[in-house]
Amino acid sequence: MGQTIRYACECGYKKELHLGGGFLSNQVEPVREKFGGSALAAYDRANKKGALTRFFWEYKRAVCPACEELLALPVLRYWERDRERIRQAPCPTCGGGAKLNPDKEQVCPKCGARMAAERTGLWD
Ligand SMILES: [Zn+2]
Ligand SMILES: [Zn+2]
Repeated sequence: MGQTIRYACECGYKKELHLGGGFLSNQVEPVREKFGGSALAAYDRANKKGALTRFFWEYKRAVCPACEELLALPVLRYWERDRERIRQAPCPTCGGGAKLNPDKEQVCPKCGARMAAERTGLWD
């Protein structure tokens, strides 16, 4: 189950993100839809070799520098035999590379100020 978190900046920018994993996290179809290009190709290669032992994907907080948007980016983790691989989806808006933000603090992509975060619920 994932969490819904609302980020708000004093400049007026706000964004509500569905983060974490839902019931689709172990399913293959969403991987096909969400992970374009090289991420999906690498996953398919591992799968074809029969080397894919386990996978799941979830939404992680990221910022797209091109769009200047905070977003929930699909991130795929899979194990090729015993080696863990992590692939991130392209920005769903522009197709560019979004930057994951593992830190607790979130800085506003519009003005650079620190954003307030509030947990608003759970989703699945
Ligand atoms: Zn973008
Ligand atoms: Zn701001």
